[in-house]
Amino acid sequence: MKNRIHLFAILILIAVFLYLSYQVFVGVGRLQIIFLNVGQGDSILIQKGTKQILIDGGPNGKTELAELGKHIPYFDREIEAVIVTHPDRDHIGGLSDVARNYKIGKVVETKAEKDTAAFGEWREIIAYDGVETVEAVRGDEINFGGVKIRILFPFGSVGAAAGDANNSSVVARLDYGGNSFLFTGDLETAGEGQILKSGENINVDVLKIGHHGSKSSSSEEFLDAASPEEAVISVGVKNSYGHPHAETLSKLETRNIKVHRTDEDSDIIYECKNPESKCARAQDLTKVKFWAKLWGK
Ligand SMILES: [Zn+2]
Repeated sequence: MKNRIHLFAILILIAVFLYLSYQVFVGVGRLQIIFLNVGQGDSILIQKGTKQILIDGGPNGKTELAELGKHIPYFDREIEAVIVTHPDRDHIGGLSDVARNYKIGKVVETKAEKDTAAFGEWREIIAYDGVETVEAVRGDEINFGGVKIRILFPFGSVGAAAGDANNSSVVARLDYGGNSFLFTGDLETAGEGQILKSGENINVDVLKIGHHGSKSSSSEEFLDAASPEEAVISVGVKNSYGHPHAETLSKLETRNIKVHRTDEDSDIIYECKNPESKCARAQDLTKVKFWAKLWGK
């Protein structure tokens, strides 16, 4: 009996070891850019090996933690950097819970503030944990494993009372070999115009459509300059804002830009094997539709 228990314990240890090795093995080298399905809001996880960068944290902590748990190996409790595009609840609502459950290496955000409980809680927890905070300004860079994330906007310091927080959204560009992504937060046409005037190169493969596909974002000029092959819209099912707007969708359609939406496709995952090869969309096997298919629904 005792021997059997020993054997059982050893088998479990071997299984755990193999599982951990597998997690590390598949994670190393491969870059993932995941637009998390957080409902009406934004949250994007950029992950390579044990390094994670999170752009925004969706509207609530429960959903955000469940989403992160799906994609971050469970033994990895550190997120190297959190980029906060702007202080609206649909972007920061889940971040306090992220800070409670993961060690955050640093926070990259503007000085824009919002008089809400969600924002107050976030600033408080970051201060309490003593997390390093870096002001997001054009030219800031995060580099790791061949991945370059560059802040393109805002151009300078943003006041605490940034009246139009959407147009103070942090805009970041990711380059990995020949692959490129543009993350726009809730930037609207006024901010897009400023970026266009600056001459910053925004030509990318994949564009995260600004402000959940609202009519007030995605000007013709901005879409033409970005000229992405694919676009991602982060949006909640049957949201009360009517996002994405039909006008935005038709602008994308006339340009033959392939659109992926979190409300229809759940998590939108891009995987990049190495800098030389092209990033490709991966199947999200964890989404509910998979089970629906299995049951022939
Ligand atoms: Zn938003």
